[in-house]
Amino acid sequence: MERLQKVMAHAGVASRRGAEKLITTGHVKVNGQTVTELGVKVGKHDSVMVDEMPIQTEMPVYILMNKPRQVVSTVHDDKHRKTVIDLLDNEIRERVYPVGRLDYDTTGLLLLTNDGALANQLTHPKYEVEKTYIAKVQGIPTNDELKQLRKGVKVEGKLTAPAKSKLVSSDQAKKTAIVSLTIHEGKNHQVKKMLQAIGHPVMKLKRENYAFLTLKGVQPGEFRDLNPEEVKQLK
Ligand code: URA
Repeated sequence: MERLQKVMAHAGVASRRGAEKLITTGHVKVNGQTVTELGVKVGKHDSVMVDEMPIQTEMPVYILMNKPRQVVSTVHDDKHRKTVIDLLDNEIRERVYPVGRLDYDTTGLLLLTNDGALANQLTHPKYEVEKTYIAKVQGIPTNDELKQLRKGVKVEGKLTAPAKSKLVSSDQAKKTAIVSLTIHEGKNHQVKKMLQAIGHPVMKLKRENYAFLTLKGVQPGEFRDLNPEEVKQLK
C-alpha cells in the first residue's frame, strides 16, 4: 500500500504536490468515494479515479536478476520447472514479468518489471539495446570467423545485424574458447545460432551486460531493484 498522492504521481497524473491539491479539492475518488483528506493509502486492488478517469494503482517495479542455470525465464512453466518468478519468493508483491528471455541453461542478467511500456520499448529492435554475452564454445574461432560475426552471419536464411565479437581466451589442449559477443537483436537462441553458424557450438552462455547495466554485486539467483537513476537512463 502506498500513499494516494505517490501513486498518482507515479501514474503520471501530477507531481506529488499537484496530486495533493487534486485530492483536497475533491477531484479524486477511491473505490467510488471522493477522498479529500491526505494520508489515504491504496494498493493494486483499489480503483482510483481522477476526474472520473481511472489511473494505474500498481507501483512500477524494476528488478535486475542474475539468472542461474536451470530456471525458466517465463512466469509459468507447463513442465513445472523453477521459474524466475519463483526466485523472487514473496519479496516482490507486484506482478512482474521478464523483459525478453534467457534460455533454460543460460545464466546472467535479466530484467523483470510490471512496466509494460518500458518492457516493449526495450525489446523492440528499433531501440537497439546492446546486450553482451560471454560464451564458452567448442573449438577456437579464427580471426576470420570472428570477423564474420561482426559483419553478420546467416541464421535461418537471414543475415544477422552487425555484432561486436572478441576472443577472450582459448584452451589449446581442450580445444575450447571463451568468446564475447555484443548484439542488439533478441531472436530465439540468437547467440547460440550465430556461433553455431561459424562452426563453434556453444557449451555455456552468460549474459553479462544489458545496456549500461552489469551484474556487479548480484550473485546467481539474487536480484536487486534498479535505482531511480538507472530507470531514468533506461527510458
Ligand atoms: N542467445 C541465446 O542463444 N540464448 C540466450 O539465452 C540468449 C541469447
